[in-house]
Amino acid sequence: MIRAFLEKVGLLAKSGVLPQSKEFQNPVIIPRSEHGISRKEISENALKVLYRLRKHGYGAYLVGGGVRDLLLGLHPKDFDVATDATPEQVQRVFRNCRLIGKRFRLAHVYFGYDIVEVATFRGAEQSEELSHSETGMILRDNVYGTLAQDVWRRDFTMNALYYNIADFSLVDYTGGYADIKAKRLRMIGNPSDRFREDPVRMLRAIRFACKVNFSIPKELAQPIVELKALISQVSAARLFEEVMKMFHSGAASAIYKMLTKYGLFAELFPLTAQHLKQTSDPTEALLSIVFENTDKRIKEQKTVTPAFIISALLWHPICLKAKTYVNEGTGPYPAQMTAIEDMLYQQAKYISIPKRIVQGAREIWLLQMRFAKRHGKRVTQMMSEPRFRAAYDFLLVRAQSGENVHELANWWQSYVEGDSTKRRALMKALGGQKKRRKKRQPPSQDV
Ligand code: ATP
Ligand code: MG
Repeated sequence: MIRAFLEKVGLLAKSGVLPQSKEFQNPVIIPRSEHGISRKEISENALKVLYRLRKHGYGAYLVGGGVRDLLLGLHPKDFDVATDATPEQVQRVFRNCRLIGKRFRLAHVYFGYDIVEVATFRGAEQSEELSHSETGMILRDNVYGTLAQDVWRRDFTMNALYYNIADFSLVDYTGGYADIKAKRLRMIGNPSDRFREDPVRMLRAIRFACKVNFSIPKELAQPIVELKALISQVSAARLFEEVMKMFHSGAASAIYKMLTKYGLFAELFPLTAQHLKQTSDPTEALLSIVFENTDKRIKEQKTVTPAFIISALLWHPICLKAKTYVNEGTGPYPAQMTAIEDMLYQQAKYISIPKRIVQGAREIWLLQMRFAKRHGKRVTQMMSEPRFRAAYDFLLVRAQSGENVHELANWWQSYVEGDSTKRRALMKALGGQKKRRKKRQPPSQDV
């Protein structure tokens, strides 16, 4: 209905892209009785922040993913607050508050481990405080403004709904409410310009579409394909954060497929993408299994291990590289170690993976080499390794993906799941394969 109204008054472009306009300033107010968002569904800490800001005379709104997910019947993972108080004013209201960010200054209000992010409304786009790079990317954005200005700075209409704590209504300037009901992902403003301003929005488009099961309209698909290379201008640290959000979204499988479809996967993981193209290794199968398992674990509210996903992404490129070193005469273990460092170095140019995750992946990769060695105390030693469980799970998915390690994976699975009698039998069965000390060969005579 809202869309029909907007179209009638000519406020929607024919393409279905909403013009980013400051003239269009009369919001639709959706009362509490209509939108159905209840305070019971909002986190206690977010409500505390909203009420306290209001008590101090500031406007306080819930905005972004929290509102979007509640309207879609999903459980929001966090709640973002928007206000007309400046970050410094927010800090004066909350003792448990820290200001963060350079490009976007934000206030973080701490409640133990829970953080409520409070953003001050952004102001107009034409300002010296809003600096752009040569390609149009926003470098600094700390001009504050009103809600009516802030709206146009948000990315998608479904992320631009403001839940007003003053009367529990929703403030909708962009038709986001109707778009959510119609399962429509729509950019605020011109998609190409908005992607140039911040290329991360391409990744966000894909994450949201997959998470809420919307399709990517052609108005977004086309500029994504054209501008995908701009991803390389985003800092490696920010890309890591974005990639983590994708892995933890519960829709990693779908996101992986869509990233590949639009050529964005190669911008994030070029070594893996190249490997997928050039070899018949079961990388695709491995990634599919790992992403499906990840989504399943998220659904069951279990934790997921980023190191495990990184292990899967770089496993085959590492093995291939190690093979080239072995062919050049390096021993298998040093070859694997050097290949691991090579690939990590290459990958870090694109995404900066924190040290502890890299270390986790390294251990998973190196332990793969030790699974074959099962004599004497090695099996019990292996099982007491801190990363054994992750490495073992990784061995099982390797086998499941079609890599030629079935015998090894079956043996280990029987061992891990077996009782002591079974374990003894398994060790005994290995007996025949016992490694014999190599007798020193006399130097070869035939030169
Ligand atoms: P989720 O928290 O579920 O990942 P979200 O939409 O809340 O999704 P946040 O990163 O928490 O994402 O951002 C909160 C809100 O800030 C968004 O909904 C959007 O309105 C705005 N926003 C975030 N990132 C951008 C961006 N790159 N460009 C424009 N607006 C953005
Ligand atoms: Mg959020």
